[in-house]
Amino acid sequence: MKVFVVNCGSSSLKFQLIDSETEAVLAKGLCERIGIEGSQLVYSPAGKDKITTVSPMPDHKEAIRLVLAALTDAENGVVKSLDEIGAVGHRIVHGGEKFASATVITEDVLKAIEEVSELAPLHNPANLIGIRACQSLMPTTPMVAVFDTAFHQTMPEKAYLYAIPHEYYDKYKLRRYGFHGTSHSYVSKRCADIMGQPYENLRLIVCHLGNGGSVSAVQNGKCVDTSMGLTPLEGLVMGTRAGDIDAAILEFIAHKEGKNIDEIMTILNKKSGMLGLSGVSSDSRDIEDGYNKGDKLCVQTMEVYTYRVAKYIGAYVAAMNGVDAICFTAGIGENSAKIRSMVCEYLGYLGVQLDEEANHKRGEEIMISTADSKTKVYVIPTNEELAIARETVALVK
Ligand code: ADP
Repeated sequence: MKVFVVNCGSSSLKFQLIDSETEAVLAKGLCERIGIEGSQLVYSPAGKDKITTVSPMPDHKEAIRLVLAALTDAENGVVKSLDEIGAVGHRIVHGGEKFASATVITEDVLKAIEEVSELAPLHNPANLIGIRACQSLMPTTPMVAVFDTAFHQTMPEKAYLYAIPHEYYDKYKLRRYGFHGTSHSYVSKRCADIMGQPYENLRLIVCHLGNGGSVSAVQNGKCVDTSMGLTPLEGLVMGTRAGDIDAAILEFIAHKEGKNIDEIMTILNKKSGMLGLSGVSSDSRDIEDGYNKGDKLCVQTMEVYTYRVAKYIGAYVAAMNGVDAICFTAGIGENSAKIRSMVCEYLGYLGVQLDEEANHKRGEEIMISTADSKTKVYVIPTNEELAIARETVALVK
């Protein structure tokens, strides 16, 4: 079956068309600047050069119409007609407590996604627009919602409750949800496969280090804790997000700088993290360049960043009373040997021994600890689109 995987943001749309039998990506691409001046579609059919089309996209429906036209184009398309697409898998950011797994989209499901939108006001409405647009252009094709939060729904209360008045959980469901669930699930399962051991018998820690970053503890095949919280702002130092801070900092900045809550949230979401610490960039490659040149703030940024990851690993070792393997994934986790090595320097107490040669290989699933390292360490490239396609096929077949 050919599965159209859609990841709809407020002004962007990423997609892949995946053949579920071979798991090959037939085409992929990105619509940018939807609803604003200068919208464009970047379309990459497999084995051919990418094609950039500048075309007005006043809304997501027009963006999806253009994508579907590209996929069926006589010259550069990869299917003859839309009938060849057997299902659509939609990435949905927040499923609240309603969704502990992927689900076939019905009117009731759409209503439920809408209801949890207040927990993710920037993301869920865009996801919903993407679903509606696909439904109107492919009215008979089954659609599946795959939630970023679902994998983490197995967390126990002690991990997901915040120590604030209980009424806020009762009234608004304010709690830890966690994100990147599709990635944590995919990578932890791959890790068990690579280790050749039953997923249900392992204690794994997955470090998804991308522009956004989160760590999760996966015990006996279930997520038991994760570093992101009610929103993707909590936890690690990220590209532009602060991660964990003392909440009193909000009050302090508000009074000292005369800022309102929206302005402060923008600072914590968009101007903090690596960017805020270094003053240089939100991109880890720029920070590493600065580090290598001895730039003091970049050195500090690398230290704060890797120390935070190491602290979460330590916390999750405690939560699971041990760990069998630690996995690195996503843009930084897959590509930065330096950051992996700096994190692993903290893990001597786990008997981690890094194989520096393996650690410098790129783009493959690989064990980067030595064969006799007590705790194993892996790099496992994530593949959220493939995971979404698999879940979609499983539900519509
Ligand atoms: P997201 O999906 O959250 O936007 P990614 O997983 O693509 O983020 O990760 C983006 C981060 O990965 C950036 O900080 C970038 O610097 C880093 N990254 C990507 N490629 C490389 C590389 N070749 N070497 C080091 N870091 C890289």
